[in-house]
Amino acid sequence: MIRSWRYKLDPRKLDAIFISHRHVDHCNDTEVMVEGMTIGVTKKRGILIASKSVIEGDETHTPAISKYHLNSLEKVYRAVPGDEIFLGEDKMTITPTIHSDPTTIGFRLEAKEGIISYIPDTEYFDEMREIYSGSRIIIASVTRPKDMKIPYHMTTEDAVYMLKKMEEKPELFVISHVGMKMHFANPYKEAQFIQNVTGIKTIVAKEGLKLRITEKGISLKTLRPARFV
Ligand SMILES: [Zn+2]
Repeated sequence: MIRSWRYKLDPRKLDAIFISHRHVDHCNDTEVMVEGMTIGVTKKRGILIASKSVIEGDETHTPAISKYHLNSLEKVYRAVPGDEIFLGEDKMTITPTIHSDPTTIGFRLEAKEGIISYIPDTEYFDEMREIYSGSRIIIASVTRPKDMKIPYHMTTEDAVYMLKKMEEKPELFVISHVGMKMHFANPYKEAQFIQNVTGIKTIVAKEGLKLRITEKGISLKTLRPARFV
């Protein structure tokens, strides 16, 4: 929440929050952001779309959100792959994963400007090429660099393999969730590698990155942080 204010993004103006799974680096601020969206739980508003594990917890985790916060929302989706959720005129299709939290979800959002997809923590599997084909932007957790594969996560090579074989390729591929190994390997070099091999513009998501998609193209902007926070 502090970070969003820092970039002059008012959390009270959020309409929906998407949480892919119940790992702390993904769900830690769920309640805090819900507080923002519901103006400190004074207004019943906003949509939460989250995995079963986030809303209900699992064998080893408590839920990531209290009943108090769930009750403050206008709508809660405990989403599973294949679900279709309408956000205004945009249609979000929930996508599957292979991750250590087996209820982890991603999405493919069909807006009138085109399709924007989010690949959360998952290891690569062949169906991904079809699921995300036709997206204009793909934002993906590419946690590991080349030659450093670990279970349940994607590497740079997985991204290359997926993109090369994808029928309708994206205009922009965004590497997100840079892990420590990726950080030390230099994520910008890894992005350049993906771009060189696939011919698809590839960037690294960093704090303050704002993407704007229109019929004409995709523009990138890095927001400047406010000085007072
Ligand atoms: Zn995870």
